[in-house]
Amino acid sequence: MGRGKQQQTYDAIVIGSGISGGWAAKELCDAGLKTLVLERGRDVPHGAYPTATMNPWDFPMRDQLSAEEKAANPIADRCYAYNESTKHFFVRDADHPYVQEKPFDWIRGYQTGGKSLIWARQTQRWSRFEFEAPKRDGFAVPWPIGYEDLAPWYGHVEKFVGISGNKDGLEQLPDSEVLPPWELNCVEKHIQSQVRERYADRHVIIGRCAHLTEPQAIHLEQGRGKCQARHLCYRGCPYGAYFSSNSSTLPWAARTGNLTVKNHAVVESIMYDEHSARASGVRVIDAEDGSSTEYFSKAIFVNAGALNSNLILLNSTSSRFPQGLGNDSGLLGRYIAFHNYRGNILADYPGFEDRYYKGRRPTTAFMPSFKNVFRRDSDFDRGYMVAFSAARRGWNRALPENVRFGESLKSELAGPGGWQVFMMMQGETIPKYENHVRLSETKVDPWGIPQLVISVDYDDNDEAMIQDFLVEGATMLEQAGCVNIRPYDDGRAPGLDIHQMGGVRMGSDPKTSLCNRWNQLHACKNVYVTDGACMTSVGNQNPSLTFMALTARAADHAVQQLKAGAF
Ligand SMILES: Cc1cc2nc3c(=O)[nH]c(=O)nc-3n(C[C@H](O)[C@H](O)[C@H](O)COP(=O)(O)OP(=O)(O)OC[C@H]3O[C@@H](n4cnc5c(N)ncnc54)[C@H](O)[C@@H]3O)c2cc1C
Repeated sequence: MGRGKQQQTYDAIVIGSGISGGWAAKELCDAGLKTLVLERGRDVPHGAYPTATMNPWDFPMRDQLSAEEKAANPIADRCYAYNESTKHFFVRDADHPYVQEKPFDWIRGYQTGGKSLIWARQTQRWSRFEFEAPKRDGFAVPWPIGYEDLAPWYGHVEKFVGISGNKDGLEQLPDSEVLPPWELNCVEKHIQSQVRERYADRHVIIGRCAHLTEPQAIHLEQGRGKCQARHLCYRGCPYGAYFSSNSSTLPWAARTGNLTVKNHAVVESIMYDEHSARASGVRVIDAEDGSSTEYFSKAIFVNAGALNSNLILLNSTSSRFPQGLGNDSGLLGRYIAFHNYRGNILADYPGFEDRYYKGRRPTTAFMPSFKNVFRRDSDFDRGYMVAFSAARRGWNRALPENVRFGESLKSELAGPGGWQVFMMMQGETIPKYENHVRLSETKVDPWGIPQLVISVDYDDNDEAMIQDFLVEGATMLEQAGCVNIRPYDDGRAPGLDIHQMGGVRMGSDPKTSLCNRWNQLHACKNVYVTDGACMTSVGNQNPSLTFMALTARAADHAVQQLKAGAF
């Protein structure tokens, strides 16, 4: 070991403290393992949310961003959640450069809790159809696990996280363990009934989300309280009413006495020991002073967020693994996929003018996918989930058509206006070899680590799916009595979905995949990759619940392996 380096040894190391890393920490600490969490960003203890209780008039810019701020951060600024009250939880563009071989808006949160502080908290299980899709429809590689493998782990994390919603009884969107649901408003219920009348296979439900509508003993034990429906969630919730690593998994893990968290700890690479044919630990650069440290452990969980996990593994070279740790197949960084959000529809609903809704709601109406679910029934692959919400017009002032000044603003504020509906798609993209990330050969970040080159794009299948949604969505809204229906493709680049996955995919065959059915690298069994990087395909559901369930399942496996002396 070189001069100036310190040696520290733990049972397990977890890289990253976001949604998946928090779960790894909790499960490993609960099992009695001395666990080190390495987090590149600053600490954000639960409750240290500086804007959480501020009013709009407390902000110099009234919660908008200045022209300078926007110009300096064009990537972050494209994210709807980035504004004056939340910007401290987003990576600033200039601080963490990467190479966009094709346009890619990489939205990141580098702090304790990662993006768990700023996520939209929508949580749906995968069904067996998502796991079976690659084999059935002939893309990617078959998943090495099925729904039945993950189902108990979904239940395990759901009870701890707290998911509000209904038991909808749908095969294509299996029921979660749920707390009381939020309610659809009158226009959403109207659309629900119209869809039900016309389509046997389409179901409008209230979105399931990670909010405590009725905290149970396990949530109170975490120190979390009931959701106040303030819908200021992206600022951090002082009640811990929505799930974040900061309010839930990390403090729980800390209470076991087994957790150590090191902040400003940028993991540069994972070290490989040829003698034992195992990873021995990680190399860390201090984000503040640039010093370097090595930490050692028997098991390593890679949870840096999908693309950063790819980066770390690609940068972990040795004579055994010259192309990156575990990369015997040469496929590390390949088959990146994401969610297609480009289709949007605005419409007006004439009627219900005597009706309103009470308070705010942290979720929307959802329709589970209805294309290619039970059989391939479209001329494109896979499907999309639909989300929509209805509100009195003017509620979304960010939309150009809703911006008002002077007299027209005053008169609009005096009354609620008519109903407006906003509908959007969340489509599955097909993992492809060409969609990949790799290390730059010429550019490094401020810590001397190679920058990530991102080369990811849409294809003809995605374009066909957008057109299908725009037609189907507009038809359903028209049938429900909406008028002035305006479908549009917002043309966004990949990345802004913030659901990127793949690059270290699971599979049974080491020649075509990187991780096995337990999320271990095939070629280096004491390294587990359990964030989005491990995903073989991406489904159409919001993904984080699946990352959590996979992580808890893999952590349980690692504990068994450690007990058995396997590493
Ligand atoms: C606005 C927004 C809305 C979203 N809405 C939803 C939603 O409704 N439902 C859903 O399922 N998902 C949603 N997501 C996505 C969700 O946030 C991610 O899927 C989830 O956070 C991924 O968890 P993770 O643990 O992989 O990564 P993260 O939560 O991003 O955590 C990764 C952590 O690793 C750290 N890290 C990175 N590199 C290193 C390194 N080299 N060394 C040390 N530490 C490192 C980071 O600082 C970070 O703390 C949303 C995201 C955003 C931003």
